[in-house]
Amino acid sequence: MAGIMSSQGSPVKVYIRIRPTANFAHELIECLPDQQTLRVRSKKGKRNNHQSSWLFQLNGVLHNVSQEDIYDGVARSVVLGTFGGYNGTIMCFGQTGAGKTYTMTGAAETYKQRGIIPRALQEVFQEVAGRVDHTFSVHLSFLEIYNETIVDLLSSLKHGKGSHSGVLTVVEEPGGGVSVKGLSLHLVHNEEEALNLLFEGEMNRIIGEHALNKHSSRSHCIFTVHIESRSRTLSEAKYITSKLNLVDLAGSERLSKTGSEGQVQMEAMYINKSLSFLEQVILALADSRREHVPFRQCKLTHALKDSLGGNCNTVLVANIYGEGAQIEETLSTLRFATRMK
Ligand code: ADP
Ligand code: MG
Repeated sequence: MAGIMSSQGSPVKVYIRIRPTANFAHELIECLPDQQTLRVRSKKGKRNNHQSSWLFQLNGVLHNVSQEDIYDGVARSVVLGTFGGYNGTIMCFGQTGAGKTYTMTGAAETYKQRGIIPRALQEVFQEVAGRVDHTFSVHLSFLEIYNETIVDLLSSLKHGKGSHSGVLTVVEEPGGGVSVKGLSLHLVHNEEEALNLLFEGEMNRIIGEHALNKHSSRSHCIFTVHIESRSRTLSEAKYITSKLNLVDLAGSERLSKTGSEGQVQMEAMYINKSLSFLEQVILALADSRREHVPFRQCKLTHALKDSLGGNCNTVLVANIYGEGAQIEETLSTLRFATRMK
């Protein structure tokens, strides 16, 4: 039984990235030649032991693709769009270990394995240097959402503006924008300063992890590049601001029914809820008849309110394992991804 899952008119471009493995389950996962379709089989069909198969259509299936190609094919246009005044959001979704952080940040070991964030920062400063008819200021912020609490990953730094230690809340601004009240914004002048802040924030994330006995896969992370520009030539030019959100979502895996309690169960509940609210928002944005988009149901969608759908460039990368042992989680990731498309 094969059924095609796809929908029309979504404001989100959805890509699948398969984590490379020597044990790729060719018998279960098949990348069709159009490079946009996956056929997946699973033995756990509805009727016992019946093998079922599904076709998933996305904007692209990326298998054995380098970090550079991911950036060029998926992220670059969103990054450049911010210079045209369009807010952008790139999100990585999937079960823990499937490659979200590798895709977003990359592996520290080699330059070649840099992920989307360092490459985006490089491109931003390249553009800033090249556009001599404009003046720019670039600020960074880096936050984590854990159990519906927003944590400023750069708050320990002194030079940030606006940082404070109270509860961080998302506030609506006149004109439709949103900001996180109390979140520190850091002015950066070049790629190196920006990368230092990225590493600083990652360190703070790890320190917080140990202190609170939580795992980074249980929180959403939003790294935001705030770009402000103004024409040097037009005398009455206004400032144009845009935001680029680079989002490493919490692991989407389902909790096994047994053995989980207390903290773990609570984390899972918050993650499941926020991911399903994210889906509701994307579906509402895709439906032109819907007037109300439920952004305010959780911190994640509220913080991204001015950077999803509408006049924004939004990309979702769904990361999956290639191994047969993970096929049920893979199917659930693919279903989520296809519903978002
Ligand atoms: P997640 O953030 O989804 O939990 P990670 O990005 O941490 O997963 O990936 C798990 C491990 O697999 C890491 O050691 C990472 O370096 C490695 N990995 C993930 N994707 C790739 C890839 N495309 N190529 C090489 N290594 C990868
Ligand atoms: Mg991760």
